Order: sequence, then C-alpha cells, then structure tokens
Amino acid sequence: DIYVLRLGHRPARDKRVTTHVILVARAFGAKGVYIEGKDEKMIKSISKVIDSWGGSSYFLVKEIENGKNIVNEWKEKGGTVIHLTMYGININDLQDKLDKIKYPLLIIAGAEKVEGWYYRNVDYNIAIGNQPHSEVAALAIFLDRIYKGRELYMEFGDAKIKILPQNVGKKVIRNG
Ligand code: SAM
Repeated sequence: DIYVLRLGHRPARDKRVTTHVILVARAFGAKGVYIEGKDEKMIKSISKVIDSWGGSSYFLVKEIENGKNIVNEWKEKGGTVIHLTMYGININDLQDKLDKIKYPLLIIAGAEKVEGWYYRNVDYNIAIGNQPHSEVAALAIFLDRIYKGRELYMEFGDAKIKILPQNVGKKVIRNG
C-alpha cells in the first residue's frame, strides 16, 4: 500500500494545492493522505468528491499534528519512507531500487520549506528532476513510475459517477 504525507498545510495558502495532492493520490493509486495541519472545510469538500467518484470505503484522508510521528510509525512497521524533493537523487537513477522496495510506502510532499529532520530520517530523498516545480506534479510522476501507467485504468467499485470515454462530448453513467 502507498500513503502520502502532506507536510506544512496552511489553510489560507495551500487549500487548492493540497486538494490537488489528495485528488492525485486517490486517482493514481494511493490509499490515503495524512495532512499535517487542520482544514475542516477542505476535508469536507474532498469528502464530497470521493463520495461521488468512489473510494470512500478505503481512501483515508486524515489530519495529523506532527508528520514526524507518522514517519517514525512507518519505520517501526518496516515500511519505506520517501521524500520528494528537487535536492534528491533523480528518480531515473533509482528505478531498479524502486522495483524492489519494501511496502507500505510513505511518500512525503512539502508545501513550503521542509525541515532537515525529514531529509535525514527518510529512506530516500527522490527528485523528479532537479528543477523546482510542484508537489502535485512530483507526486503524479512518482506514482506513475511505481505503477508504470497501470494506475490510469483504475476504477472505483463504489463510484456514483463514472465516465464513458469519448473523443468528443461528455458522457457519464450515474449509479444511485
Ligand atoms: N522551496 C521548497 C524547498 O526548499 O523545499 C519547496 C517548495 S515546492 C513548491 C513544494 C514541494 O514540491 C516540495 O516540498 C517537494 O515535495 C515538491 N517538489 C518540487 N519540486 C520537486 C522536484 N523537482 N522533485 C521532487 N519534488 C519536488
């Protein structure tokens, strides 16, 4: 299983980006997101999306106080902790290792500056290229490298809305 830890969420500034981190996590095969910080409004709006599009039975969105506790928990249970950062090792040079990695995986994505503690206490600091960009893009590409594109066919059993793919037009099926 794969979970995401979103560090340093500030409701006023990060609402949209954290929402996108959660949507990408869900759509690309993660089982849940831990959010460091409190944002009841954002959690409510994301729950509505998950309720319509599926995953509410297993996809976890949880507010937590301190991300370090989650990292320590992960290490205790023998999983792997990965921090996405432009300062890390280029993911292209780690694919062999990623294919043999120990699960569950915890993927850390920051908002602002991430504390040095994380760099020192994770198993891997991984860069999706060594240029600054976005936690949303970084997470999407990371999950795609893990699942090798299979995640794009994911379906959710409990979805109330499903898309019937078309070249032109919008077709949806509604279930209940
Ligand atoms: N300035 C911040 C710092 O020094 O860490 C980074 C801000 S960046 C907008 C927010 C997050 O996006 C980072 O914490 C990291 O998780 C992710 N990120 C940005 N560029 C990345 C890259 N090239 N590779 C991996 N993750 C990246």
